[in-house]
Order: sequence, then structure tokens, then C-alpha cells
Amino acid sequence: MSQFTRRNFLKVTGAAAAVGALGAPGLSLGATKRVVIIGGGMGGATAAKYIRMGDSSIEVTLIEANKHYYTCFMSNEVLGGGRSMDSIKFGYSGLAAHGVKVVNDWVTGIDAKAQKVNTKSGKSFAYDHCIVSPGVDFKWDTIEGYDEKAAEKVPHAWKAGSQTIILRKQLEAMKDGGTVIIAPPPNPFRCPPGPYERAGQIAHYLKKHKPKSKILILDSKDKFSKKGLFVQSWKAMYGYGTDNSMIEWVSKANDGLVNRVDADKRMAFTEFTDHKADVLNVIPAQKAGKIAFAAGLTNDKGWCPVNQKTFESTIHKNVHVIGDSSVASPMPKSGYAASSEAKVCAAAIVAMLNGNDAPTPSYVNTCYSVPGEDWGISVAMVYRLGAEGKIIKVKGSGGLTPMDATPAFRKREVGYAHSWFKNITSDTFG
Ligand SMILES: Cc1cc2nc3c(=O)[nH]c(=O)nc-3n(C[C@H](O)[C@H](O)[C@H](O)COP(=O)(O)OP(=O)(O)OC[C@H]3O[C@@H](n4cnc5c(N)ncnc54)[C@H](O)[C@@H]3O)c2cc1C
Repeated sequence: MSQFTRRNFLKVTGAAAAVGALGAPGLSLGATKRVVIIGGGMGGATAAKYIRMGDSSIEVTLIEANKHYYTCFMSNEVLGGGRSMDSIKFGYSGLAAHGVKVVNDWVTGIDAKAQKVNTKSGKSFAYDHCIVSPGVDFKWDTIEGYDEKAAEKVPHAWKAGSQTIILRKQLEAMKDGGTVIIAPPPNPFRCPPGPYERAGQIAHYLKKHKPKSKILILDSKDKFSKKGLFVQSWKAMYGYGTDNSMIEWVSKANDGLVNRVDADKRMAFTEFTDHKADVLNVIPAQKAGKIAFAAGLTNDKGWCPVNQKTFESTIHKNVHVIGDSSVASPMPKSGYAASSEAKVCAAAIVAMLNGNDAPTPSYVNTCYSVPGEDWGISVAMVYRLGAEGKIIKVKGSGGLTPMDATPAFRKREVGYAHSWFKNITSDTFG
């Protein structure tokens, strides 16, 4: 059982003063307060647990499509051969122990007027507040020849699970001397450092088992997150920048943008070059999860605008959107950010359901990447709500792994990355 008590949670979120009051305007005393959460990933599962810890009189129903959740974070280590799929697999019994009602179903719509969530199996769930945390969906129409069917042969592996297994098996089956092509997506997308950590993890595997092989990164961007640190690690471990480099990165400006794919031939086409791969990993452009569109929660860019103090949608009252689908920049679309947003949203809903104002939040994010053996790097930042109601960075907080970090420092960062993984998954699912 978690060491967190309701009291600690309220202290942490600053909502302690908010929750003593009896009743709330618009809510009859004694009526059950109901929160329905869509999506049991990093955002949804965390919100479910923290609402129950904040006020155990609130009925929380979590509707999740799958019986198990595979974390995307650390899935690159599965590709690198250093970890099993089982080690990134989590169930929902921990949340049930907190009194969360877990329902396995697919949500097809939200009736924001009637305050009801509808599912594929024909059920309907009434709510006072609804939280939507469906992760991302892909823009399948941006790369010619690359759709859901093509992704069975040319995996994106950007949602962990069967896609991760397909990509890993293809890497295992590849001959020594083969070419792996990775095509990272344009901004904004889930986990900005992820494709470059992936390149490092795959290089780590190839260096050990298929050292004549190459990785070609065909990018739709000219720069990327933690670029200096990644390039430094690739130089040290994989000969980046030399004739014998295992990794080559091609920016958009240098004809890196993949605009067509032939999944059967494993070909990637840029404006001027046809590239043949032995293993092709295309990560398409992204947008909010399907339900966000079905429920009319998205803006013209395909993401969900929210009040960043409560994560309540600016389009539909009493519907909150957190995690990758929400507009929370300058926070990145990461698991840690989703967890932080979930806690802010949980505290706001507990306060609102008790007739109080949402507390003024702060937010946090750290992203670790492990591009090779004993080589960890990180970026961290603390955020707060600015005067205009927008999330802003706290000056002087956070930072990057220094470029002149010692080998011992970098090795320690791998340890921190793995302990972060243990902590966040037990915070979310435990
Ligand atoms: C390779 C890779 C590496 C990463 N590494 C890191 C890292 O090191 N650190 C980090 O912080 N983040 C990392 N991330 C990002 C992180 O995984 C996501 O940002 C995070 O999972 C977002 O949480 P979420 O709740 O928005 O979505 P998710 O965690 O994807 O959860 C969404 C859930 O909603 C369910 N769902 C969706 N629609 C419906 C529906 N209609 N009905 C029912 N259920 C539904 C899905 O089944 C899923 O379980 C990584 C991502 C990738 C791809």
C-alpha cells in the first residue's frame, strides 16, 4: 500500500485548505460525486489514484481499452536487448486496491451536455467531471504509403506493445551489414528525445551482435532535443562523424524528410533519394487520441486546449484533458509530464467537487535517455502557472546533463533513469 495519505497529497498539492468545506454549490449533500477517466496510461491511471487519495468519497471509474499497459519509456531498452517486455508491463490491481473501478472497454464518445461517457460495448457512465488521457493518435495521411496496415510490416513502435515486439524481432532477424532506417516525426510529438535514444539503443545492440550494420536517421527536423548530448554519446560509442560511423543523421534541410514509404520493399523515399532498408522504423506525425476528436475537444492543430490551472477543456465544461493530448507547452509530451498534469488535475477536481477553488499548481518534468552502455543523459525542468494563466518555466530550475560530465556521472544517470522508472510506475500503478 502506498505511503501517501490523503493528508500528504493535499499538502503536496496545496489543496489542504480547499477540502475541509462541507458540500458544494450545485451538488446535493450526500450525492455521490463521480469522476470518469478515459485511458489508463500515465495520465489517466495517476489521476485515478490521486483523486481517490484526495477524497475517497469520490467514485472514480477508469475506462481503459487494454487489460495491461506497456510503458513506452524503457521500451527502447527492449529494442536494445537489455530488458524484457514483461519488465515494462503493468496491470490495474493496484488501482483497484485504491478503490478505483476499472472497466475494460473502448470509449466511443462523450456527451458533454448530458455528462455521460459511452462505450463500444453499449454502456454509459455518468460523471460530474470527466478526465480524458488517451495519449496520441497518428496522422496516417502525412507519408504516402504509410498507414495502419503498413505499420504491421514497417513498425512505428511509438505505442509500446505488439509494435515493440515486431521491431525487436526484425532487428534480431537482420543480417550483419544491414541498414536500419529510423524516420522521426515532426514536432510536436510524444517524447522528443525518444527517436535518438532509440538510435543509440539499437546501435548498442548492433555493435555487439552485428557490427557491420548501419543506422540511418532520416529526420523531418533540423534539430532535436538534447542534440549536443546525443551526438557526443554517438561519437564516443559508435564513431559518429567518422567514415566508419554506425549512425548517420540526415536533417530535413539535407533531404532527410521521408515523404513516401513502400512497406513491402522496405523503401523510404525523400525528395531526392530512394533509401533501401533492412529494418525500417517510421514514426509518423502525431495528434490527440481518437476520443478527443470524437468528443470535439481538439483545436485546428489537432490537440486539446485546456485551462492550464485545472486542465479543464476550454471547449467543454467539466471535461479535463491531460497527458499527450493536451496543450501544455512548454511542458513536453512525456510520461513524467502526464503524471504531473494528472496530479494538478486531480487536486483541482477534488477541490471543485468540494466547492472550493482549484489550488495554484506547479509542475515538473525530467526525461532520462540511455543511448548506450553506462551512458545516461537527462533534461529536467520545473514549471509554474504564470500571471496570464499559462504554464511557464521556473527560471534557474532544472537543466541538462553537463557536456563535460565524467564517465562515473553518466553511469550514475543510468542508475537514476532506472530508479525513476521504478518510482514512477509504482506511483502510477501501485
Ligand atoms: C519510445 C518512447 C520512449 C519514451 N520515453 C519516455 C521517458 O523516458 N520519459 C517520459 O516521461 N516519457 C517517455 N515517453 C512518453 C510517454 O510514454 C508518454 O508521453 C505518456 O505515456 C503519455 O501519457 P498519456 O496518459 O497521455 O498516454 P498513454 O500513456 O499512451 O495512455 C493512454 C491510454 O489510453 C487508452 N485509450 C486511448 N483511447 C481510449 C479509448 N477511446 N477508450 C479506452 N481507452 C483508451 C490507451 O489504451 C492507453 O492505455 C516515451 C515514449 C516513447 C514512444
